[in-house]
Order: sequence, then structure tokens, then C-alpha cells
Amino acid sequence: MRKRTQKRAAARDAVKLAKDRVRLAALEEGGSSSRPIWVVSASLVEPTALGLGCAACGGPLRLQEHEAKPFGAQLLRVVHAGCIDCGHRRTVYIGLRDPLN
Ligand SMILES: [Zn+2]
Repeated sequence: MRKRTQKRAAARDAVKLAKDRVRLAALEEGGSSSRPIWVVSASLVEPTALGLGCAACGGPLRLQEHEAKPFGAQLLRVVHAGCIDCGHRRTVYIGLRDPLN
């Protein structure tokens, strides 16, 4: 009886922790269109986004979609990825900075 209660509490804690991580990831660079990660080459967009890992469990990400989308005057790359381990979806915003500027 008590064991089951503890197990349930542990599961609740794990869910809370994952939610906190997801909320934090949204505030980090790349988590929103107002705070993109800047890279200097289009070839770096996908490895940079996927390299972040899952926001919920830290597992490996698999690319789902990569699109270019305008946000105001800025054109950003939006990478949609899903966690291979837990299925959580992550959207990463990346800007391409011209290395010559
Ligand atoms: Zn995950």
C-alpha cells in the first residue's frame, strides 16, 4: 500500500520535473521566435536544433520538419523535432546570420 503511494508520488515528481524542464527550454535560446539560436551556415541548422536533445527527458531528437518562416522582418528556420525516447515534441527557432556581415 505504502509502496504504491511512493511510486505514485515518484511518478508525479517525474512529470513535474519534465514540465519544469520544458518550461525552461522555452525560455532558452532557440525556444521562441524572439530568442532564436544564430548560426552562420544553413548546414548547421538541423545539427544545432537536434543537438539540444529532448526538453522533457534529454533523449535524442528526430527531425520531423524544417521550414523557413518570417517573423516580422526576420526569416527564421523553424525545426520541428520529436523525442525518440518519450515522444515529446520540440520546436527550435534558428536564425541564419550572414558571416560576412
Ligand atoms: Zn524525451
